[in-house]
This record gives sequence, C-alpha cells and structure tokens, in this order.
Amino acid sequence: MSHTCKNLLIRCMDFRLNAEVERWTKESGIFEGGFDVLSVAGACKSLTDGNEEVKDNFLSNVFVSTALHEVCKIVIFHHSDCGAYARSYQFSSREEEKKKQIEDMKKAKEIIHEKYPNVEIVLVFGAMKDGEGREIEFEKIN
Ligand SMILES: [Zn+2]
Repeated sequence: MSHTCKNLLIRCMDFRLNAEVERWTKESGIFEGGFDVLSVAGACKSLTDGNEEVKDNFLSNVFVSTALHEVCKIVIFHHSDCGAYARSYQFSSREEEKKKQIEDMKKAKEIIHEKYPNVEIVLVFGAMKDGEGREIEFEKIN
C-alpha cells in the first residue's frame, strides 16, 4: 500500500516552537493532507551557508519527502531569536535578524525550486512573543 502526504514542513529544531507549531499546523489549514517534518537547527540556514555535504544531506531529505511521499507543497518555517543564527551572526536588532532569515528563506526556496519545479513553496516567519515560545505570530512571506 502506498503511503503519501501532501506537505513537507521544514522547521528549526528549537523545542520552544513545539506547542505553537503544533497548534498552527492544526489551525492554519495549510497542512491539509498531512505533512512530513524536516527539523534542522536554523531550518534552511544550512542549505544556504553549509558546505556541499551538508547541502546534499539536506536535499536528500527533501527528496525522500517529494519522491516517496509525493509531497506537493513545502512550507519553510523560520523563527525569531534563533540560536543557530545567533551562533553565526551578530544582529543589532530583531528586524536585522528577520531580514537575514527572510533572505535565506528566499535563497532556499530558489535552490529547492530548481530541483523540484512542480512543488509549491511557502515561506512563513514566526515572531516569538516571549523567550519561551508561549505565543508565536505566524507571518506568510511573499
Ligand atoms: Zn531556531
């Protein structure tokens, strides 16, 4: 029997996101048909600034999802106050961090789109309202 799902969520591994992301995946309606989860520190950060081996590993996960599970939409989710970004960059403001992450999300979208032109790619940025992730504002990026 075949097992397929419609979506792939690429998110940061940060545990603080778990409760709100779970709520969002249930309530937003964009994960209808089920979803795979690729959980990596910094979400798509390593796809944009990692070495070739890291990038290949990242894309092989995307391949499994699109080829085996026939996913037709990928949701790339990044968030503010991200530890993976804090390790690599020194941002002077939350706006600066967000700008850099959106830049990377768009770059990742291009890289994935080149390999999988028929897959829809949606970018979402989560602004954490407190340090614990009790409330996250989800914003779709165009
Ligand atoms: Zn993070």
